[in-house]
Order: sequence, then structure tokens, then C-alpha cells
Amino acid sequence: MESTDIKICKICGGKLYGFKCVMCGAEEEIEDSSHTCGPERCEAKCVGCGQVEKECTCEPVKKDADPVPTPAA
Ligand SMILES: [Zn+2]
Ligand SMILES: [Zn+2]
Ligand SMILES: [Zn+2]
Repeated sequence: MESTDIKICKICGGKLYGFKCVMCGAEEEIEDSSHTCGPERCEAKCVGCGQVEKECTCEPVKKDADPVPTPAA
């Protein structure tokens, strides 16, 4: 049985790939258990911006469309 473990960014709803250390910024394709800062510091990166979830700069996923007043062009 193969489990399709596709992680989704909680901020923008996009896919995640690889890992980035939130402490030192080291980037790895896979979670590195020997990483000096600790593997738990490595978080999946957003496909869109390459940042970890908490630093994702993509458009946040909107749950309910809020009537945002459009600034006059
Ligand atoms: Zn994202
Ligand atoms: Zn690190
Ligand atoms: Zn992003």
C-alpha cells in the first residue's frame, strides 16, 4: 500500500516540496534527520514562493469570499 502523502500549504493551499530549516535556512530535498538544528526545524516549502508555510508570501487561501472594497484605479 502506497500512501500518497501530498502536503498542502496551509497558507495558500498550494503543494509543498522539499524542506527548509526555519532556524538556519538550509534547504534539503528530503527531511534530513542528521540536520544540526534538528529535523523538526525543517518544514516543507511552498511550491509557489519556496518559503516555509509560516513565511509563505503567496495569496492566502480564502475560505469565504470577503467583499473587499476595490481601490479606485
Ligand atoms: Zn503557500
Ligand atoms: Zn538548520
Ligand atoms: Zn507560497
